[in-house]
Amino acid sequence: MKLLEERIIRDGRVKEGNVLKVDSFLNHQIDIALYNEMGKEFRRLFPGDAITRILTIEASGIGIACAAAQYFHVPVVFARKTHSINLDDDVYTARVRSFTHQREYDIIVSKRYLTSEDHVLIIDDFLANGCAVNGLLELVYSAGATVEGVGIAIEKGFQKGGSLLRGRGIRVESLAVVESMDAAAGTITFRRT
Ligand code: 5GP
Repeated sequence: MKLLEERIIRDGRVKEGNVLKVDSFLNHQIDIALYNEMGKEFRRLFPGDAITRILTIEASGIGIACAAAQYFHVPVVFARKTHSINLDDDVYTARVRSFTHQREYDIIVSKRYLTSEDHVLIIDDFLANGCAVNGLLELVYSAGATVEGVGIAIEKGFQKGGSLLRGRGIRVESLAVVESMDAAAGTITFRRT
């Protein structure tokens, strides 16, 4: 998505450790007009009528999922992060390793908001090694629901998440795929499809 790529080039900052900072428009300060265009693009990429729920993970995925949900006309459910093991019978849980904080946490979603009837579109801000999306997939499978696909704002194509998910036959659509980035030079290149 050209608009997003241009914005990443203009305002994104490459940090050591393969981290791309996009705080000024995507996940700290938020550009709602850009979010809306991203929401429309997700709808264009997943045009069918099967999707019944959008599932994301707090906190950065929520806004993007909400922007998309306006065009899918379905509810957004976000998995909550918790640092204590949840033994509650009313929730599905999965364990996720955080890319940015290098530690593990559990994610939970209420059984009331994810059922075997659901056809789920998973949305998140970044795809790196795929841990967050894997955790969300585990929640969907625990519920006996169907995965319709995964929509990502920024995929770092040089990390393994995208190819692992696609290798499992999961449809992954990313609005911008970073092919390479260099913290010292401050350069970013995108994959052309
Ligand atoms: P993964 O679980 O795929 O390894 O990493 C994805 C998660 O880590 C996303 O939910 C996102 O919050 C965070 N993340 C991964 N890479 C980056 C990055 O380069 N920049 C930022 N801001 N967040 C990232």
